[in-house]
Formats: sequence, structure tokens, C-alpha cells
Amino acid sequence: MEPKIIEIRVTPEKINNPEAVKKSLMSKYGPCDEETFTYRVLKRSIDGRGWEPRFSIRAEVAEGELPEPTASRPFNPVPLTDKKVIVVGAGPSGYFAALRLLEMGIRPLVLERGKDVRTRRFDLKKIYSEGHVNPNSNYCFGEGGAGTYSDGKLYTRSSKRGDVARVLDLFIDHGALDSIRIDAHPHLGSNVLPRIVRAMRENILKAGGEVRFDTHVHSFVMEENRMTGVVLDNGETLTADAVILATGHSARDIYRQLHAQEIRIEAKPFALGVRIEHPQTLIDEIFYKTKTRHPNLPAASYRIACQVKGRGVFSFCMCPGGFVVPAATAPGELVLNGMSLSHQSAEYANAGLVAEVRLADLAKDTDAHPLAALEFQEAIERKIFQAGDGTTQKAPAQRVEDFLQNRPSTSLHKTSYLPGLYPTNLHDLLPSFVAESIAEGLQNFGQKFKGFDHPDATLIAVESRTSSPVRIPRERDTFMHPDTPGLFPTGEGAGYAGGIISAAMDGLNVAEAVGRWVEKE
Ligand SMILES: Cc1cc2nc3c(=O)[nH]c(=O)nc-3n(C[C@H](O)[C@H](O)[C@H](O)COP(=O)(O)OP(=O)(O)OC[C@H]3O[C@@H](n4cnc5c(N)ncnc54)[C@H](O)[C@@H]3O)c2cc1C
Repeated sequence: MEPKIIEIRVTPEKINNPEAVKKSLMSKYGPCDEETFTYRVLKRSIDGRGWEPRFSIRAEVAEGELPEPTASRPFNPVPLTDKKVIVVGAGPSGYFAALRLLEMGIRPLVLERGKDVRTRRFDLKKIYSEGHVNPNSNYCFGEGGAGTYSDGKLYTRSSKRGDVARVLDLFIDHGALDSIRIDAHPHLGSNVLPRIVRAMRENILKAGGEVRFDTHVHSFVMEENRMTGVVLDNGETLTADAVILATGHSARDIYRQLHAQEIRIEAKPFALGVRIEHPQTLIDEIFYKTKTRHPNLPAASYRIACQVKGRGVFSFCMCPGGFVVPAATAPGELVLNGMSLSHQSAEYANAGLVAEVRLADLAKDTDAHPLAALEFQEAIERKIFQAGDGTTQKAPAQRVEDFLQNRPSTSLHKTSYLPGLYPTNLHDLLPSFVAESIAEGLQNFGQKFKGFDHPDATLIAVESRTSSPVRIPRERDTFMHPDTPGLFPTGEGAGYAGGIISAAMDGLNVAEAVGRWVEKE
């Protein structure tokens, strides 16, 4: 009999019981011989739509042997040629690009302004305990990039843009669990990611690549409009066959430098708002409809969106059982993000709750000012910082009920945000079109998901690094900057990715394009 694909729903009690799963599959399959019936789970997700949450399972089943699964594609470096490529940034797009270059015999020289993944941790502690933000080592900068001390949610909506399966294979090859292949919403956790990042670096080095930390790229070497290298802060010049720019969405100095050297960049819409924090039990109750979550169910998560007068309002980077973290990249600014550990067992759930910022919302003509969206974003982060005590990362916050009434809060619920909160009226700090859109969006979400707009849920400002406020243009087929041969922008900072998987995928795509280009040159 040919294998078949079957979908079933099973209760949380049964999900970890292979015999019970087999029985459910057999009853859906029809009459068969239990002895010879075999199955392989292809996808596993949680379906919270009914009265009680269920796991949905898609499985390949057969009476007899199943065909071999698609072979995984681990890292496969080949002997190096004399080609060398500079990769600026050791985030997911930079490291995946470096791995792929080594599979094509091209030597990557990875330059990272921050520290190695282990040492970087000490600077994170200084941010929340002392309010000290190191501009080269923080939640966004350092080995592994912004994704490392994050949540490690490994899913993407841009699966058509590249080979998601290859990205997952490479993660597994460097220490992630096999289950990320079948989970619809795979998640690694901030405690697991650093180990994977270190394993990637070790493989890059073993295969002949080079990785330099504490190495800040200051500017670009141009020869007759062609990018041939970079200049470091200490004045050292490095040249190569091509430059892959993988500096993430927070490298404002890089955008400014590109603009100063007349390398074309463009302003890009982004989104701005707050982090919303609820007790995880409330989120479980809303999305699982149960006060006591079954131990086999992960902490409930959500992704919600609506339109308010034609403007998108949506949740962003939801962290079940997680923490709100201070993600500023320079002193004098306040920026929030979220993370969780692999078991997602912390008391609170948080997510960005943001409204679209369009180029038409900006006061400046964005054609003439490609940095207009960046400056708008930066000005708000500085305003929010200055509204506080001016020294720490203590963040302004408001109860949802007070936000909806546009009155200051005088007290707040407990929070996971370690630097602490102070009560205020966020309408005074956010642009009015953002605050008003979020208020209407919250009411809309509260109607759809009873309790989401709970009076005591906390809104904290500011969530501003949702995506890059700048795009570095590139050609569709060659992935190269249209006016600057030799420059290959990649990842979130270039405006072509949002999240770990899509950035990694873009890094792979760009490395392949670089491989084609350097071979021709
Ligand atoms: C706290 C937090 C939580 C997140 N959670 C998730 C999540 O759960 N799932 C998810 O998919 N995404 C998450 N994200 C987003 C995700 O991390 C990014 O989308 C992703 O890391 C982008 O990858 P990238 O390689 O393009 O850039 P980045 O990861 O930003 O890496 C860029 C690197 O370039 C370096 N760099 C910058 N400028 C220079 C320079 N001048 N010289 C040398 N080096 C430089 C930086 O130090 C950095 O290491 C989170 C982000 C944060 C901050």
C-alpha cells in the first residue's frame, strides 16, 4: 500500500504517548493490521479554536515500511580557493552567509563590533542592573546578533523567500533539537541559542574562515564606485572580493556612513508602539480557555492584528512565559523587546503591540531624507529615555484601563522588566496617531479575545525596533546593490528579513549570489 498523509487532533494527555497517537491515526486510516502499521509525524501544531486545546498532527502512514525521510543537509565545507569575502556582522544573516560561503570554497572574514557570545552576557547584566548601555555590546550587538539573547522563536511567514528546511538543518547540525523540524512554532530559548551560535563559530573557524570580535566597521573602501573593502575604527583597511553587509536594523552608524559616502539607501516604513504584559495564566485562559494548563501544553501564545482607520495594528514578537528586556543600543535611549527561556515558564506573557508608521506620517520628504524614518524612531527612543530619571533603563508604563481613558496611571501591576517601571500617561510620550491606533486596536482585541484588554494589563514604552527604518536597495537576481558593485546587503538591516529564520535564509541566498559573482569576476 502507498503511504498516505493523515491529519488528526489529539488531546494534550495523548501527545507524548506514541501508542495513543498510533491508535488515533489507525482509526482515521481505516481497517489495518496494527503489527505492520507505521507512521512518521511531519508537522505538529496546537489548535486552540475549540472548547479545549488540541494538538494537530500531520503524519505519513503506511502498512509496512515508510520511505526514508528527506535527508538532512548538514554543514558541508569544501577546500578553500583564493576568494575572500568580508562579512560585516555575526548575527544570523552573517553567520549563515559565512557557513554557506565555506560550502562554496570562499573564505569569509566575519567582523563583529560586539563580543563573543559568552562574554557579551556580562554587558547585558550591566544594562538592567546599572542602566549602562555599551554601544557595541548589548541585546542587539554581539556574536549571534539580536536573535541570540532573544526568544529563539524559529518560524517565519516568508517561507517562499528561501530554503527554510536548510536553515533548520543547519540549526540542528549545530545543536538544536530535531523537533524543530516538525513543530509548527519551533522555539529554542535564550538559554539554548548561545550554545548553537558558539558551535557555528567553531565550524566557521575549523573550515578556514576567520571571525574577529570587538571589530567595528567604520566606513567603506570604494574604488571607482565599487566596494572593495572596509575601514575599521582603528584605521585598519581590509579588502576582499566582495562585502556582505549584515549589520542588523540597529546599526544606525552604518546607515549614516552609507549615506555620507553617497551609497544609495531608502527610508522604509516600520511600526511603533508598546509592549503589553499580562499574567501568563490570563493568556492561557483567553487562548486555551482553561485556567489550569495541561503540563504537556506550552504556555499559550498569540498573534493578533486588526486595521484601525486603514492603519495596521498588530502584535509583534510575542514571548509566552517570558521577560520584557531593555534592548537599547546606545546610551540615552530606551527601547524594549522580549525574550523567553526554552521552558517558557516565567510568570508573565509579553508582546509588542504596535501601529504602522508610514512614510507619509513623517514630517520630512523621505526621498530627500532617506534617514527620516530612522531619525523619527531615534527621537522617540530618546524622548522616552529623557522622560525617566535620565540615568537608568526604568521604563514608563500605564495600566490598560488608564490608557484607554487617556489618564495617567498611579499604580502598576508587577512586571518581568528588571530595570523597573514608573506609572505615567503614555499618550503624552507616543505620537498621537500611534497611541490612538493602539487604543482602538486594544478595544478591538478585547472584544475578540475576552480579557485581553484587562484593566490591569500593563503597557510599557517603547517598542520601536520592529523592523528596519531603512532599506539598502539591491537587485532582485544578483542581490547586489544596484549602484555599488561588490556590496551585498543582507538580513534585517538591509530591509529584506524580519526574524531569525528569514535573516538566516537571506544570508544563505546572498552568499550564493556572492559565490556566483566572485566566480565571474
Ligand atoms: C530581544 C530580542 C528578541 C527577539 N526575538 C526573536 C525571536 O524570538 N524570533 C525571531 O525570529 N526573531 C527575534 N528577534 C529578531 C531577530 O533577532 C532579528 O530579526 C535577527 O537577529 C536579524 O538578523 P540579522 O543577522 O539580519 O541582524 P542582527 O541579528 O541584528 O545582527 C547584526 C550584527 O551586526 C553587528 N554589527 C552592526 N554594526 C556593525 C559594525 N559597524 N561593525 C561590525 N559589526 C556590526 C551587530 O553587532 C550584530 O551582531 C529578536 C530581537 C531582539 C532584540
